[in-house]
Amino acid sequence: MARNWYPVIDYEKCTGCLTCFNFCPHGVYGLREDGKPLVVNPDNCVEMCGGCQKVCPTGAIRYNGDIAE
Ligand code: SF4
Ligand code: SF4
Repeated sequence: MARNWYPVIDYEKCTGCLTCFNFCPHGVYGLREDGKPLVVNPDNCVEMCGGCQKVCPTGAIRYNGDIAE
């Protein structure tokens, strides 16, 4: 079964506050060289969790798999 639910960050909106990085308890996020979060373990993401999207202050997080077909 293919995994298709994981966060996708819009770096145009992301401020690098790292709220998502600090919030996620599953190690989905790592850091880029510029200090912004990077999705490094998409397979660890809990399907339909959505927690990091709720805490992101700039609406920069969407989910692959959450896009209407
Ligand atoms: S949706 Fe949940 S499990 Fe997935 S990255 Fe965000 S906080 Fe972590
Ligand atoms: S919470 Fe939103 S703005 Fe802050 S680092 Fe994560 S994606 Fe960027």
